[in-house]
Amino acid sequence: MIESLEHIVLSQWAIYLLPLLGFLLGIFLARRRFRKQKRQLRFSNDYFQGLNYLLNDEQDKALDIFVQLVETDWETIDTSLALGAIFRRKGEIDKAIKLHQNLLARPSLPQEYKGTVLLSLAKDYLQAGWLDRAESLFNEVVGDGEFIQEAQRCLMSIYEQEQEWENAINIARRFQNKNDNELAATTAQYYCELSQKVLAQNDLKEAEALATQALTADKNCVRASLLLADLAIKRGRYQKAIRFLHQVEIQNIQLFPLIVEKLILCYRNTSNLNKALSYLRTLDKKYQEVSLVPVLTKLIEEIFGEEDALQYLSEAVLRKPSLTTLSALLQLQSPDIVRQENLIPIVVDAITEKQHDFQCKRCGYTANTHVWLCPSCHSWSSMIPKMD
Ligand SMILES: [Zn+2]
Repeated sequence: MIESLEHIVLSQWAIYLLPLLGFLLGIFLARRRFRKQKRQLRFSNDYFQGLNYLLNDEQDKALDIFVQLVETDWETIDTSLALGAIFRRKGEIDKAIKLHQNLLARPSLPQEYKGTVLLSLAKDYLQAGWLDRAESLFNEVVGDGEFIQEAQRCLMSIYEQEQEWENAINIARRFQNKNDNELAATTAQYYCELSQKVLAQNDLKEAEALATQALTADKNCVRASLLLADLAIKRGRYQKAIRFLHQVEIQNIQLFPLIVEKLILCYRNTSNLNKALSYLRTLDKKYQEVSLVPVLTKLIEEIFGEEDALQYLSEAVLRKPSLTTLSALLQLQSPDIVRQENLIPIVVDAITEKQHDFQCKRCGYTANTHVWLCPSCHSWSSMIPKMD
């Protein structure tokens, strides 16, 4: 009886208390929402002011704002990093470095952003030319799955600049993917660099082993075949050299003009010039992207005489018209005395000389001598003989 009375009194209290509790809870939630909105509003105002400074090219003022914002909300770090990238691109490396070092020094920097900031700072060091510092930071980041590829490329670029080919090979092989043909081709070039280095110290055996490793890394490495052919020639093994030089047809026909004189030398030393002639004739007919006409003309003249060479050249100049073939034709047709009065061959020669012999197929850079690494776009094996 007493229990049921207590129950009735409590339920009556509850009827009065519940609306009051609801009212108080409402006030509490409203105040909390207001405070949050106020904070967000301030954040937005600062953020937009920062953007405004950026648009007005006042990066220093923008930097102050974004650095303060990062403390309040680490999600704005992307803007700070973008600003760092702008500084780096503009060549203001000291500001980029200061910004990234500042971010790294904060104990509140969340772990998830640490790799990105380290990578940015490493890129600053790389651009500033502080290769040792850049190298140690890239090595720190390279273990992080998210940044492997970028850090690896940057490390390879550092080792290329420092010509530390063993390190370059190690880093390339560490992250070699079976389907990455470009990386395999670059690794092969590193082996070739090493092979040339030991060759200069007269270590033929090691040079051969390294060039063979280059071919294993990339079976289409023309430079490796050329190195192996050179080593075979040094030992007087011309047949072996011929086998290596023949590989270039399959590897990259556009680079064939680089090795053609060497191939003729090998055939000459094995008394097989006729074989060279028939092989080169076949190639010249088979591939439009390469012209062996001047070389073939000289070879025909050497084997069969001037008349046959002239006949071959007259046909070839129509089949593969170019200034080089025209120049060769004019030289054969004009004996020296007549040539002195004939301006045409002289003019054609002058035009041909003006043109560069090699061009990068990636960036279009031209040069008179062949190099394996394009000085302009830093691509390996992209310089090919230019067809006029
Ligand atoms: Zn290039």
